[in-house]
Amino acid sequence: MVDVRGIHKSFGPLEVLRGVDLRVRAGEVVVILGPSGSGKSTLLRSINHLEKVNRGYVRIDGELIGYRRSGKRLRELKEREVLRQRTHIGFVFQSFNLFPHLTALENVVEAPIAAQGRPRREATERALRLLERVGLSDKAHAYPRRLSGGQQQRVAIARALALEPKVVLFDEPTSALDPELVGEVLDVMRDLALGGTTMIVVSHEIGFAREVADTVVFMDDGLIVEQGPSSQVLDNPRHERTRAFLAKVL
Ligand code: ATP
Ligand code: MG
Repeated sequence: MVDVRGIHKSFGPLEVLRGVDLRVRAGEVVVILGPSGSGKSTLLRSINHLEKVNRGYVRIDGELIGYRRSGKRLRELKEREVLRQRTHIGFVFQSFNLFPHLTALENVVEAPIAAQGRPRREATERALRLLERVGLSDKAHAYPRRLSGGQQQRVAIARALALEPKVVLFDEPTSALDPELVGEVLDVMRDLALGGTTMIVVSHEIGFAREVADTVVFMDDGLIVEQGPSSQVLDNPRHERTRAFLAKVL
């Protein structure tokens, strides 16, 4: 499903990803842990081509992201093509990023109508079902400023699902929330995972990782240091750096 091969990414002299390989199967939930600055967000952003990597590639369902092969060379896709590819990749950010001038419902229907040309009625029906799924049927017509952080993040999740993505990327989806609102967002994510959504989640919610993740990945200094079944990486880490990190966050 998701196939990340040998990606390198530098910002000027700073090498942020130094050869990252990651394979994610359909329906798999991967949780990525690692210290600040280790490259977790850059990895997620590289998967949907918000960052252009310097080396390596990303494929989703066999399709190269951001490039097409032309003979032996890779050519960059046009922006329009990249936008089409991104419709298959949901992204949920730490900071919700809802459109403030649109209601919850309008936030969810916007992309299916604008990016996929879905008829408004069909998109609206689907959006209402998604809002129900994240427990916000009664807030469909509320503007983001009237919603709590946890509710805004659940709208953002519904919006990410509206395009029926092949994979959903989450970048610290609960770290901007007040502690009492974290649970409701993790509950929605847990439901998605159980429903078979393919997810790559950067999060330090170890309880969530333990319960929901199939695979836990530990990154440090631009590399995947260790990855494996959640119980193995969390309870029996092989590497000293993983152990040291877990001792801090647990
Ligand atoms: P955090 O846990 O703090 O979110 P992270 O693991 O997500 O950290 P990244 O955001 O991927 O880390 O950043 C990795 C490194 O790349 C950091 O040193 C960061 O300063 C640097 N970096 C990220 N984006 C840019 C950019 N656009 N220009 C220059 N440097 C960047
Ligand atoms: Mg980050």
